Amino acid sequence: CGIVGYIGNKKATDVLVEGLSKLEYRGYDSAGAAINTGESLQVRKFKGRLAVLEENLKNFPVEGNLGIGHTRWATHGAPSDKNSHPHLNMDETIAVVHNGIIENYMELKEELMSEGVVFKSETDTEVVAHLIDKYYKGDLFDAVYKAVAKLRGAYALGITCKDYPDMLIAVRKDSPLIVGLGEGENFIASDIPAILKYTRDIYLLENGEVAVLTRDDVKVYNENKEEVKKEVYHVTWDV
Ligand code: GLU
Repeated sequence: CGIVGYIGNKKATDVLVEGLSKLEYRGYDSAGAAINTGESLQVRKFKGRLAVLEENLKNFPVEGNLGIGHTRWATHGAPSDKNSHPHLNMDETIAVVHNGIIENYMELKEELMSEGVVFKSETDTEVVAHLIDKYYKGDLFDAVYKAVAKLRGAYALGITCKDYPDMLIAVRKDSPLIVGLGEGENFIASDIPAILKYTRDIYLLENGEVAVLTRDDVKVYNENKEEVKKEVYHVTWDV
């Protein structure tokens, strides 16, 4: 299971596939990505090896410089294309990748279904996309906080929204997630090796922290939405 996210000037799918390949050691059964083109979210996700995703992207390329990628280790819902991440809200304007387990997903799912939400997968993760949608009134940052407040369990999340082609949001609680700091580009990843090819300057996210990435800036906030001054961890080792 692994997460990689990218915002910058490179072709996002290249960075995502490269980064995810460095996380293969963690084990996985499916791989997927969502690219925010500004006009839509382009989603590719498949059961099987990362090579299946890579092959698809080779044959049917997606242009775009912002994306989130995922390798899945299924906990809720069998390995399948449908259960692979990213997961989306109903009108496919919000995409989420997740590592971990949402413990209260069943009650959240029932509540959302009673409100008319139609689910496409058997995963615990999908509730996160619909919750963000539910609270989204034009401010993604605010909607993410409201959604996350409902979650119990462990999660590292990468989030992209069609309305925000210049922003990537990451959240971390009890599942690993780091931020990579570049020049005119920034990254998120489950682990440092995924992005070491691109940068050695890292923010290690603490539990409850939310990172907001643009091409030129990263801001980190605590559970109370207060900005946190992070120290840059400079990686001196190689893999
Ligand atoms: N619990 C989620 C699922 O089964 C995420 C699994 C993971 O960490 O890859 O889809």
